[in-house]
Amino acid sequence: MRNPKDAAEWGIFVNPDAGPERRRFTIAHELGHFVLHRARQGSFRCDKESVHFGLDTAAVIEREADEFASNILMPGDVLRDAIANRRIDLKVLSDLAKTFEVSFEALCIRFIKYTDQRAILLHWDNGFLKYEWRSKSAVRTRARIRRTSDPQEPLPGTLAADESVAQAWDGIELPASTWCAEEAPYMKLREFKHSYGARDRVLTLLVLEGAEPRPWDQSWQDGDNLDDPDWQRSAAE
Ligand SMILES: [Zn+2]
Repeated sequence: MRNPKDAAEWGIFVNPDAGPERRRFTIAHELGHFVLHRARQGSFRCDKESVHFGLDTAAVIEREADEFASNILMPGDVLRDAIANRRIDLKVLSDLAKTFEVSFEALCIRFIKYTDQRAILLHWDNGFLKYEWRSKSAVRTRARIRRTSDPQEPLPGTLAADESVAQAWDGIELPASTWCAEEAPYMKLREFKHSYGARDRVLTLLVLEGAEPRPWDQSWQDGDNLDDPDWQRSAAE
C-alpha cells in the first residue's frame, strides 16, 4: 500500500505468523500489484484465502498478481526443464516445491500449467470439489472428470473417496474411466493424493496415459480457449 504520508513510498505488509513459503508468495504477489496495478489503486487487501484457491469472486487483478508471483518464484522455462521426460510423483513435486521455496499447492498448480502430460489437479475442501485444473493436453483431449453431484464429491472407487488413505505419494493405477467417463476402457491413469490442514483439504493429482487429440471432436476448440488465462482453473460447478 501507498504510504498515506508520502505518496512516493509504498510498503508491503506480511503476516509474520505465516510460513516462509506463504510470506514469499505474498511478497511476490504484492510486488505484482505494485508493478501492474499501482496506477489504479493506492492499496490492495489480499485475503489469503482469495489468493491461489481464488474465491469465485476473485478479481482479475488478484489473478494477475498471482500469475506475476508464480512467474517470479517458479520461472516457466526452469520448471519445464525440471519436469521434462521424468516420471512424476508427489515426492518429485514436493522436492521441486522445496527448490523453488513455494508451497506444495502452488507448485502443483504450476506443474499443471507446464506439463506436457495429460494431468488434472483437483482441490477438495471438506469433501467437496473446489477447483479443477487441467493441463493443456488434458484440455486438448477433452479429459475431464465425470460430474455426478453438485457440489461434486469424490467418485466411488477412487483414492479421493477412500477416507482411510490420507497420503498416496506414489499413486495407484486405475482405469482412466473411473474418473473420466469419456476415456476409452483400456486407458489408465495414476491417482495421487495429498491431505493437509486438519485433513480437511485434499489435493488429487491424476496423470493420464497419453492420447491423441480427438480429431472427430472439434468442440473443444470453441469450449476451451487455450488463450484464456483461466484455461487451467475452472471453478467447480
Ligand atoms: Zn492481491
